[in-house]
Amino acid sequence: MWFSVAHEDSSKNVSPQKRGKVVIISGPSGVGKGTLVKRLISESSFPLVLSVSATTRPPRPGEVNGRDYWFISRDEFLEKRANGEFLESFEVYEGGALYGTLRETVETQIRQGKWVLLEIDVKGALCVMKELPESLSVFILPPSLEALKERLLNRGTEKGEDLSRRLEQAEKEISFNKFYKERIVNDNLDKAFEELVKVLASYN
Ligand code: ADP
Ligand code: 5GP
Repeated sequence: MWFSVAHEDSSKNVSPQKRGKVVIISGPSGVGKGTLVKRLISESSFPLVLSVSATTRPPRPGEVNGRDYWFISRDEFLEKRANGEFLESFEVYEGGALYGTLRETVETQIRQGKWVLLEIDVKGALCVMKELPESLSVFILPPSLEALKERLLNRGTEKGEDLSRRLEQAEKEISFNKFYKERIVNDNLDKAFEELVKVLASYN
């Protein structure tokens, strides 16, 4: 399979390109995954690259197509899914938008020796863990459900039903943390960031 085959050309006397890795990051909405991931990419020295997922949800103010997500229509998403273009894809919130990891994006970056970060939900993560058991999986926990609610309210990107749906799902998602290789509580952001860097360094 593409992820376990060493990328090596023994016919030439050159050092083989070291294959990359997959790092899965999950946690309930509002826990700080995006914040931690942005910091990791800008401040750490690992060859990290964020896998840009496809979604049918509309962009939030400031989000850029191709940087934050590939924002596509439901029809386009279903066509890609039928063509086997997703490594995993799910309706993250019941009755809500579809999200999926593009297989091609991950494969290309792994071949280039990158550490591909997948910031995905628990269902997608379980799928990837099964297909790529050597991947590193990290679950980000909130210090409490109250703190999580406060962060989501402060972020202010979801309202009404959208917000309550995310909060309702948080407890269910948190119960999946046991399936991950590592767990980090994001109480103090600097401390959580340091822990994440340590976990990644031990995966080197
Ligand atoms: P996620 O990507 O998990 O949905 P975000 O990274 O968007 O979450 O963070 C949600 C909100 O919480 C943002 O407004 C962010 O600035 C804030 N936040 C992140 N980490 C902390 C922390 N340790 N303490 C307080 N607020 C935080
Ligand atoms: P948001 O709408 O806040 O950007 O993301 C909502 C949730 O969808 C988050 O838990 C995020 O991790 C998850 N998500 C984002 N991209 C993907 C993806 O490609 N696959 C899956 N399964 N979940 C994703």
